[in-house]
Amino acid sequence: RSKELLDIQRSLEGSIVSYPREMPMAVKRARGAIVEDVDGNRFIDFFSGAGVLNVGHCNDYVLKYVKRQQEDLIHMLDFPTVNKIELIQKILHQLPAELRSEFKVSFCGPTGSDAVEAAIKLAKHKTGREGVIAFHGSYHGMTSGALSATSLVKLREKLRSNMPNVSFVPYSYCYRCPFKKTADNCQLDCAEYLRYVLENPHSGMAKPAAILLEPIQGEGGTVIPKEGFLEKIVNIARENDIVVIFDEIQCGFFRTGDFWAFRESNVFPDIITMSKGLGGIGFPISAIIYNKQVESWGAGDHIGTFRGNQVSIAAGNGAFDFVREYNVAEHTREMGAYMLSRLHELLAFSPAVGDIRGKGLFIGVEYVKDKKSKAPDPAIVRTIRKMCFAKGLVFEIGGHYNNVVRFLPPLIVNRELIDNALAIFEEVNRTVTN
Ligand code: PMP
Repeated sequence: RSKELLDIQRSLEGSIVSYPREMPMAVKRARGAIVEDVDGNRFIDFFSGAGVLNVGHCNDYVLKYVKRQQEDLIHMLDFPTVNKIELIQKILHQLPAELRSEFKVSFCGPTGSDAVEAAIKLAKHKTGREGVIAFHGSYHGMTSGALSATSLVKLREKLRSNMPNVSFVPYSYCYRCPFKKTADNCQLDCAEYLRYVLENPHSGMAKPAAILLEPIQGEGGTVIPKEGFLEKIVNIARENDIVVIFDEIQCGFFRTGDFWAFRESNVFPDIITMSKGLGGIGFPISAIIYNKQVESWGAGDHIGTFRGNQVSIAAGNGAFDFVREYNVAEHTREMGAYMLSRLHELLAFSPAVGDIRGKGLFIGVEYVKDKKSKAPDPAIVRTIRKMCFAKGLVFEIGGHYNNVVRFLPPLIVNRELIDNALAIFEEVNRTVTN
């Protein structure tokens, strides 16, 4: 039945169909971290709908908020509601007390890309400048502005003339340092390179409106920057009067065990983008959280029919309350540490595993042809995903070279489910390297 529906989908939706190509299932229902297809096969979902379902599929606690809201009000543009003010306050409450009155929250359209567009636009309004600096390995979305700041050339080349002016600089990717340094012998040369291009009149780069980056890269392969990188980027931006945007769309909403992935750094950006987990159990929503200093637009400058759907907002409120009531942030840190250490143990035998990294339940395993050359091995990753799928485990793949297995389980997973998932993963890894 799955095959039949997949064929029908292909014939009706055409070649734009993406995820089901690699994970061929037609889905019937899902709960927590388990997805069931129309044939009754059950899968452990360590993908979470691309990092959306942080509180788990169809979480009952959140569903109550959704059902209650559906009875009262679903769509009312950007009019104030108690529901909405509550969510804004919960977001602001994540800031240190002294900063709460410095920041504002605006809902954008339903997708992450909408928040990125709004953030870039706000930075342009504020500075009167055009360009954006983004990073190698970045992913910010598929709309024109967000895509222009997404580094994969293949995705952008046919649209190039339509897109704003973006320059790309190195991210702090210590496993593949472009300066051939190691994490313990560098002076954050990647961030210094940014300073160099900004401050050298011959770099060819006009001063941009914004510097846009993910505090931990998601699609780029779960790349965790070296300590101090975010601080340095923000300082360089401040010295040069450039707006800093942190894209927390994937790494935010408790994915790393903190509400925001950048929270351990000692700096705050001017604008934060959020989406995905903010809609609780998959309701579309996005927002920007921004310092009053960058507020530079007036009524009507950034409108939109679906800025803050009330059901999505209710789901966000439910997710926040669920996380607080069940201490999900701490659970995420605990489960993340457990999963990471198990991965290190189970994959120690493998000559193909070059790097294992993670923060909270944001975990990546990078595959190489051999550990010395570090030549990326995207083929083995595709094979591993296919074989894991056949055994009932789904996850994302990504990376600068598409050679990283990316685990994004719902944050509510327990040890038993992690053990079951990793048993499949280990078995497949042993098979492919034999
Ligand atoms: N930013 C980041 C960091 C993302 O991971 C994504 C989605 N993968 C987006 C932006 C775009 O979000 P959407 O697909 O909802 O437009």
